[in-house]
Amino acid sequence: MRLIILGLPGSGKGSQSKLISKQFGIPQISTGDILRRAVKEGMELGDKARSYMERGQLVPDALMTELVIQRLEKEDCQQGFILDGFPRTINQAETLDDLLKEKNMALDSVLELQVSDEAVIQRLSNRRLCSRCTADYNLLSNPPKERGICDQCGGSLYQREDDREETIARRLQVYHLQTKPLETYYKDKDVLRIVDAGKGVEEVSSEISDTLRSLPRVASAKG
Ligand code: AMP
Repeated sequence: MRLIILGLPGSGKGSQSKLISKQFGIPQISTGDILRRAVKEGMELGDKARSYMERGQLVPDALMTELVIQRLEKEDCQQGFILDGFPRTINQAETLDDLLKEKNMALDSVLELQVSDEAVIQRLSNRRLCSRCTADYNLLSNPPKERGICDQCGGSLYQREDDREETIARRLQVYHLQTKPLETYYKDKDVLRIVDAGKGVEEVSSEISDTLRSLPRVASAKG
């Protein structure tokens, strides 16, 4: 199964992709996670991307498409994948289309998680992540048992630089301007499925599972 997950920052793309990845046995490719790791490990890619990320702007298309093309070549992607955070511009979507066409592959679905700007601001400003295992918490709806400590691995929690209020506003603006047009792009290709993501993680996950199981290729594989 080849999927893309779209949605505002904080719409739950990361959490839902992780669940889909487990459920359907396909790798989650989070471009944001790849970039953050590159920054942390002092890689050249990280040096090039850091200033854009800190400002809440998009990293240039050329850098992103190169990164994704290389990742999709890997063996674990040959049976499917879920792209989380890519594409984010029409240009990236077109490059992905060309790549898939070259490989004789097609997208099964593009899920768009819909949630309001207000909900996103609330979610992101209260989001905390584990510096060791990347588990995420929300100080209001899903706080850790012990303040600042990850329940799962004991790692310390931190707030992403770009989850600060000024940067959140910029990221929302960037999304509406540069990423939102992908909705029409994929609607025209008849692969877009809208999911109401203003609910709890489990409810959203169950709606997504139903949607994915009804996709022609998945339904026919079950026989
Ligand atoms: P995310 O974790 O998906 O919210 O991504 C964090 C940041 O990484 C974004 O605000 C961008 O600066 C950068 N980024 C991630 N994916 C992309 C992409 N496909 N195109 C451009 N920039 C990206």
